[in-house]
Amino acid sequence: MKVMKFGGTSVGRPDRMQQVADLVTNQQEPVLVVLSALSGTTNALVEIGEQLSKGNKVEAATLIDKLEQHYQSFVKELLQAENSRKEAAGILEEHFGFLRIILKISFSESISKDILAQGELLSTKLFCVFLSEKKIDHVFLPALDFMSIDANDEPELTKISTRLTEWIKKNDTKKLLVTQGYICRNHRGEVDNLKRGGSDYTASLVAAAIRASVCEIWTDIDGMHNNDPRVVEKTFPIEQLSFDEAAELAYFGAKILHPASIWPAQQYQVPVRLLNTMDPVAKGTLITAQPSAAGVKAVAAKDNIIAIRIKSSRMLLAYGFLRKIFEVFEKYRTPIDMITTSEVAVSVTIDSDLQLPYIIQELEPFGTIEVDKNQTIVSLVGHEIATTPSILSKLAESVNEIPIRMVSYGGSPHNITLLVPATHKTALLRQLNTGIFGLS
Ligand code: ADP
Ligand code: ASP
Ligand code: MG
Repeated sequence: MKVMKFGGTSVGRPDRMQQVADLVTNQQEPVLVVLSALSGTTNALVEIGEQLSKGNKVEAATLIDKLEQHYQSFVKELLQAENSRKEAAGILEEHFGFLRIILKISFSESISKDILAQGELLSTKLFCVFLSEKKIDHVFLPALDFMSIDANDEPELTKISTRLTEWIKKNDTKKLLVTQGYICRNHRGEVDNLKRGGSDYTASLVAAAIRASVCEIWTDIDGMHNNDPRVVEKTFPIEQLSFDEAAELAYFGAKILHPASIWPAQQYQVPVRLLNTMDPVAKGTLITAQPSAAGVKAVAAKDNIIAIRIKSSRMLLAYGFLRKIFEVFEKYRTPIDMITTSEVAVSVTIDSDLQLPYIIQELEPFGTIEVDKNQTIVSLVGHEIATTPSILSKLAESVNEIPIRMVSYGGSPHNITLLVPATHKTALLRQLNTGIFGLS
């Protein structure tokens, strides 16, 4: 069985949803389809939640009406038969009805997760109505019945695998299964999610859970590019990447993949393919355990980074200092991305300011604390790049006049990471495109 995941733009228009149906039905082996919400829906749901959290019910109601209108026209164009349109009307009534009930009750964090789940629930249900209209045999597999996370928000891969394998055994005549990306249940049994862009993560988890032959991520671009195509004009797709390289790129900001979406496939050696729904014959990117050729493969950028410097003369010749610092971050469950040290100071970066005031308060007894917000991590990723001749001189030339706040080199042979103020990100990505890849 293979997994085919389609992102928001791939299902965001009726003609594209039809194209997805063509793609998933033309396969040699059974397919488990993972769908995202229609493009723009999750953003709209986030906004509805935000309005409700501020008590702005009228604004929230207006947004719900607007979103429903979008779905009404979508359904009208997607479906032709009277009975399918009726079925779709029932689905819209159920989910928009649910959103309107929320307008009447008091808002909470767990309700906001229910709101966010509506996008994937709608897209998969409407897709199944479309498949039925086209008489394409399929079965609907609700993600909330098998996808779960534990108290630390970590996916429960073993449990997911047991539930899915049993379910597939019971339905072994079915060749087309449809499920939702992104949504799951948490340890309290409530509806939750795998964070923004989480459908890629679902696909990889599901592929690992069923030991799929391949995990295909279908999106709106022909694979992982050498640089961020939203920022840099001339970029090109990379044909092959190792799991390690892809994981670093995803973690360090290549938006095409959710940051955590590689490890499940990597753990069970399921190849991952990044493919373009709008150009299905394009080669895309193949990600496997095979180490690729040495050299820089790509550059990625991760925004909204906070740098914290702890300066203390007590660090001089002292041991145990770093442990005490790290314990503060552990206590506040805040992961550190980058770290650099000198004899009297240490700088670390974090990507969330949720616990920042508490972290600063607890760090203060250790020395002087300086915080720089609005930083961007720029990572160069590729097999053995740290030892590639002339990489440092090329990097230095590309950096040119850009102020660098931190550099991490040698932590992994496959990664060199820089931290720059966000205002310099675009210039740095462009200069690296010229300096490293020879593209202007
Ligand atoms: P989907 O809705 O299919 O999940 P996303 O918008 O999450 O799609 O991811 C695809 C987008 O990622 C592309 O349209 C592209 O703009 C962006 N992107 C950022 N960095 C890269 C990169 N290095 N290679 C390819 N795409 C990238
Ligand atoms: N719909 C969710 C989002 O927009 C999940 C996804 O698309 O991967 O973040
Ligand atoms: Mg995505």
